[in-house]
Amino acid sequence: MANINVDSKNERTFDAIVIGSGMSGGWAAKELTEAGLKTLVLERGRNVEHVKDYPTTNMMPWEFKHRGEIPYEIQKENPVVSRCYAFREDAQHFFVLDTEHPYVQQKPFDWIRGYQVGGKSLLWARQTQRWSQYDYDGPARDGYAVEWPIGYKDIAPWYDRVEKFVGISGNKDGLPQLPDGVFQPPMDLTCVEQYFIDQMAEHYPNRPVIIGRCAHLTDPQPIHFKQGRVQCQYRNLCQRGCPYGGYFSSNSSTIPWAAKTGNMTLRPNSVVQSIIYDDKKEKVTGVRVIDAETKETIEYYGRIVFLNASTLNSNLILLNSTSNRFPNGLGNDNGLLGKYVAFHNYRGKISAQYEGFMDRTTSGRRPNGGYIPRFRNVFEQETDFLRGYAAGLSAFRSTERDYDGIGKSLKEGLTNTELGPWHVGSHMMGETIPRESNHVSLDPNKKDEWGMPLLDVSVDYTDNEEKMLQDFFEQMTAMYEKAGFTNIKTRDTKQAPGLDIHEMGGVRMGKDPKTSLLNKWNQLHTCKNVFVTDGACMTSTSTQNPSLTYMALTARAVNHAVDEMKKQNL
Ligand SMILES: Cc1cc2nc3c(=O)[nH]c(=O)nc-3n(C[C@H](O)[C@H](O)[C@H](O)COP(=O)(O)OP(=O)(O)OC[C@H]3O[C@@H](n4cnc5c(N)ncnc54)[C@H](O)[C@@H]3O)c2cc1C
Ligand code: SF4
Repeated sequence: MANINVDSKNERTFDAIVIGSGMSGGWAAKELTEAGLKTLVLERGRNVEHVKDYPTTNMMPWEFKHRGEIPYEIQKENPVVSRCYAFREDAQHFFVLDTEHPYVQQKPFDWIRGYQVGGKSLLWARQTQRWSQYDYDGPARDGYAVEWPIGYKDIAPWYDRVEKFVGISGNKDGLPQLPDGVFQPPMDLTCVEQYFIDQMAEHYPNRPVIIGRCAHLTDPQPIHFKQGRVQCQYRNLCQRGCPYGGYFSSNSSTIPWAAKTGNMTLRPNSVVQSIIYDDKKEKVTGVRVIDAETKETIEYYGRIVFLNASTLNSNLILLNSTSNRFPNGLGNDNGLLGKYVAFHNYRGKISAQYEGFMDRTTSGRRPNGGYIPRFRNVFEQETDFLRGYAAGLSAFRSTERDYDGIGKSLKEGLTNTELGPWHVGSHMMGETIPRESNHVSLDPNKKDEWGMPLLDVSVDYTDNEEKMLQDFFEQMTAMYEKAGFTNIKTRDTKQAPGLDIHEMGGVRMGKDPKTSLLNKWNQLHTCKNVFVTDGACMTSTSTQNPSLTYMALTARAVNHAVDEMKKQNL
């Protein structure tokens, strides 16, 4: 029930409502406000203002109480988030603790979350690759999951638009499987990475290796200065929040940009409980919010709603939005809401050494790495598993110290450092096939502190992922051997799904309302004034890091929504 003590209904009415202020919500806010729409951005977490709310950004290692580590007690109580490599003392405050926001795991699933203005855009590793037509063709080619309703040509101009604004560093590599974008100068490769690239070009001409494409400013343009952002200083402390705005986050870029239009109202501490469907008007009229601090219920109204609460939270909100017309969740006529969730298979790691280039080393820090684009099953099906994997690449030398000894000899051992051999490493980023059995639903009994049902997650690996993992080990070992690397070791991290932080699906796009939830413009087939443009909309996952595609889909959907509003269709 609406609380009559809050602002009048008029003051709670907007042209558009955006749920979530993270990577995709920030883009929805920017595009909607630039188009002149009075836009309400609802964010369940606290406000995080660029620079002002980055408390650790300039701290020295010795200034951290626990020298950068998370205390054992916190780790013990929060095993899920503690498994994320970035959950360290310097960025701890941007992560959700397991204890604060419980969920139900039917099968192990590490759900990594950031609940604040900016969401996980503060924490991401900033890798940004476009999808190619081969990626969009995946489901149609092998018949698993439904066909995408869009292809590369539909989204290419939106990748352009996003890349220009965000600022992407990368090299134009001319690869059909990984289209080039609007790039700023690429970061450097180390000599061993370059050597590996040359070796692969000789021995595996169909397996190109490149420098990663990442959302850092290496040559900022006027559009970035207007955002108040300057060139990346290569500090490599990005997860603390960057005072230079050297990397892209909603906080440094889209949210302040939207604020400057004068059209945005940002309301932090607003837990969206459900989206309100009006049976008579046959459309959504607004959203129901629980104030995170006072716990009061407030309703807000708008002509359109953009749902950008992150993949699984967007599923949760839709499942929790029931009405006479939609008793099983908003837009869920076909019963597929929450189903066909997929993720990325990050289980494979390989490491090695290289004895050459002992007269060379690196200096400075590089917030990026090398990238091996997918080379399996790209142009045709060639293995006994479906789809493929990409991989990272890094090669560096580290200082070695002698930790043995005591007293004077220990001090000498610690201070007399030597450079060791080159260490080389790669990690696998594999596509998983969306399956009906991988799904999320609402727990019928358990609720959180704000009265929201707990999300019940049932997502697992299949035989396809096991086969892919073995192939990664075999192929990468052969490639490393060809390059003359030694001491090659492979490792199955056995990590649970979710730790890849690329969970997608549950509200997938498609051509047919019988088999999908969203149309080609990210509108619910059965409720056109609701747009879902975060990872929940993804029909398949391919191997690329997904956020660039979420941002491009969001910009594209907003453009369509604004057009439709002008035509009075929404
Ligand atoms: C350590 C790490 C490394 C990563 N590296 C990469 C990478 O290199 N490349 C890449 O592409 N991706 C990467 N990612 C993933 C990337 O961060 C996500 O894909 C991206 O942030 C998703 O955007 P989003 O808008 O869907 O969700 P988010 O950015 O998580 O934003 C969702 C927002 O919605 C809010 N919200 C949730 N529920 C509600 C509710 N009920 N009411 C109101 N608000 C709500 C949340 O508080 C949050 O602020 C990484 C993530 C992490 C944590
Ligand atoms: S590496 Fe660049 S983006 Fe990251 S903290 Fe440093 S200056 Fe900022």
